[in-house]
Amino acid sequence: MMNWEAHACLPLHPQADFSPLDSLRAAGVNYVSVNVGMDMNPVAQILSVLAAFRARLAAHPDRFRLMSSVAEIQAAAAAGVLAVGFDLEGAMPLLEQPDMVALYRDLGVRQIHFAYNRNNSVADGCHDVERGLTPLGRRLVEAVNQAGMLMDCSHTGRRCSLDIMAASSQPVIFSHANPLALVEHGRNITDEQIRACAATGGVVCVSGVSAFLGTRTPTADDVARHAAYVAELVGVQHVGIGLDISFRQDELNDNPPGDYDPGYWWPQAAGYKHAIERMTYTPVETWQLLSEALQKLGLSTDEGALVMGHNMLRVAGQVWQRRLP
Ligand SMILES: [Zn+2]
Repeated sequence: MMNWEAHACLPLHPQADFSPLDSLRAAGVNYVSVNVGMDMNPVAQILSVLAAFRARLAAHPDRFRLMSSVAEIQAAAAAGVLAVGFDLEGAMPLLEQPDMVALYRDLGVRQIHFAYNRNNSVADGCHDVERGLTPLGRRLVEAVNQAGMLMDCSHTGRRCSLDIMAASSQPVIFSHANPLALVEHGRNITDEQIRACAATGGVVCVSGVSAFLGTRTPTADDVARHAAYVAELVGVQHVGIGLDISFRQDELNDNPPGDYDPGYWWPQAAGYKHAIERMTYTPVETWQLLSEALQKLGLSTDEGALVMGHNMLRVAGQVWQRRLP
């Protein structure tokens, strides 16, 4: 068994409470990709969070392991320890510098997407004007491939995501994205994007976010329904789970300094009718209910295991081992 949580968010604060990680471990999660920054976060904040998270994970080897390979994830799972990797949401922290990719990789960042809802100099966001992948973006896809980092297309514009998947020499994932055919929302992805992802050998990990599942109080059954749709469309070997639970802690202010405008990054016109703060997420316990929920929809136990982690284990194993200096 291998339960792979492709994306989760702690407050972007050096002192963020790690108890949500213990909750994930208790719910049976073996690996979690933890966000360490988005396009709106200054690099100084991201580095501060990376330094603190790395040190604090290392200080608790009985609970966590900052891993650098699939073999280490399997060893951690056998030991009952939660394996942790980091991800970036957006290319702005790369400072338009391809060699920043390998630096972040060396700090534990294992997956990245290039835009966070809005356009930048590299890629398009899913809630902005479509332009396609820029020439700088093409160089950065190559840098991600060479660094052995997972190329993610969540939050990315449709045409731009198709450009990225065509340009990548390695499988590409959506770490947290849901099918548009089931719920009409600009953050959800078309059948064409899902097919293109599968064609790279990649995995679409469905989220547990209320707005993207089209329900106010999302459950394991909702997540399973979206996973089953992707399985039906492109095959069960291309489906994963990235619940995207945002573990907010009110006592910590994780907003970046400066003129941060939530209405820019989560535009009301794009379907964020309620402020992002009002979004709800499937509970951590979803992990304990997913296998049965998938079986109710006709997936076998083995197929459920692929969805819950073995597909991402396969793809990560393929991509991460390529790392070049
Ligand atoms: Zn996200």
